[in-house]
Amino acid sequence: MTTRAFGTRAADAHFEPMDIARRAPGPRDVQIDIAYCGVCHSDLHTARSEWGGTQYPCVPGHEIVGHVSAVGAEVTRFKVGDTVGVGCLVDSCRTCPSCGEGLEQYCEGGFVGTYNGPTHDAPGHTLGGYAQGIVVDEHFVLKINHPQDQLAAVAPLLCAGITTYSPLRHWKVGPGSKVGIVGIGGLGHMGVKIAHALGAHVVAFTTSESKRKDALALGADEVVVSREASEMRAHTNSFDFILDTVAASHSLDAFTGLLKREGTLVLVGVPEHPHPSPSVGNLIFKRRSIAGSLIGGLAETQEMLDFCAEHGVVADIEMIRAQEIDAAYDRMVKSDVKYRFVIDCATMAA
Ligand code: NAP
Ligand code: ZN
Ligand code: ZN
Repeated sequence: MTTRAFGTRAADAHFEPMDIARRAPGPRDVQIDIAYCGVCHSDLHTARSEWGGTQYPCVPGHEIVGHVSAVGAEVTRFKVGDTVGVGCLVDSCRTCPSCGEGLEQYCEGGFVGTYNGPTHDAPGHTLGGYAQGIVVDEHFVLKINHPQDQLAAVAPLLCAGITTYSPLRHWKVGPGSKVGIVGIGGLGHMGVKIAHALGAHVVAFTTSESKRKDALALGADEVVVSREASEMRAHTNSFDFILDTVAASHSLDAFTGLLKREGTLVLVGVPEHPHPSPSVGNLIFKRRSIAGSLIGGLAETQEMLDFCAEHGVVADIEMIRAQEIDAAYDRMVKSDVKYRFVIDCATMAA
């Protein structure tokens, strides 16, 4: 079948409507009518080939929510009409140790991303959620238990939510932890909300003076404008854990210096150009660590969705029409997002 999508044909091209092919659902496939799709900074990095290797046409989008419109004969977990989500993964090898542990994002054979991943389906690479429909193996489909009127605001949980939840859980953030979240964009604002819901003391680090008040409303206990050296100094040696979501190259030393002995700075932002090499002294004198984390596996993504439903956590969103994707990207580059753009996929109709 064909479905209406919005994509780009080159790194410097505008988004345009296109009709793309989706496979007929196989025995284990779930066919989904997409209602909303969030706009992640990774979509922009990919559409503009900032990381290299983008295949065109490129249809980004991995924060997908919608309703099941058909299921294959062997599908057991979903039925027509169910409210579902799809995140960053649509396949993996399913046999390696990481897949065996439910950590499909670290699949040793290489996972298949929701867009720009290898597939036998036309055109030979996966096409994502800036579309009205998608067909996905049921293992990679999530159940959504939030109320229907929150559906658009649930979409960003599928990437921004899990990418922040997974490291917060892995490094055991909870009551008694002092946690920093750096960069209050799509990922960062979810990091603030989730760390707060986990019971931590949360400090938001922003370069935008205009986000100071908002960050408190999102659940931060304190806000630091990271350009203000004296505000930064006041937190020296005090953090158990800092999550850096910034989408641009910057010095890490200002943040490693804020960690306690044995504290960890976890990088999730993937800038186009590398960060300057961090100071070794900042690490060795207090046995501090710098680590990284990639999205989350299917089991943990479902756990995150259920946790957010239980705690009433959704994203703060600005809904856009598909025709506004280019303008949204231009605003994202300027850190002018409050705090996630979500595409209303009904606006794609020809
Ligand atoms: P976003 O909405 O654009 O937010 C990024 C935030 O970083 C901005 O809002 C801004 O916050 C801050 N920032 C931007 N430029 C900056 C600069 N030059 N210096 C300091 N701070 C700056 O992006 P996002 O969707 O949250 O994604 C963030 C990054 O994570 C991207 O690189 C994306 O590709 C990556 N990502 C990684 C994973 C993973 O699994 N590891 C998953 C999803 C996304 P303030 O205004 O508060 O400073
Ligand atoms: Zn993403
Ligand atoms: Zn695997």
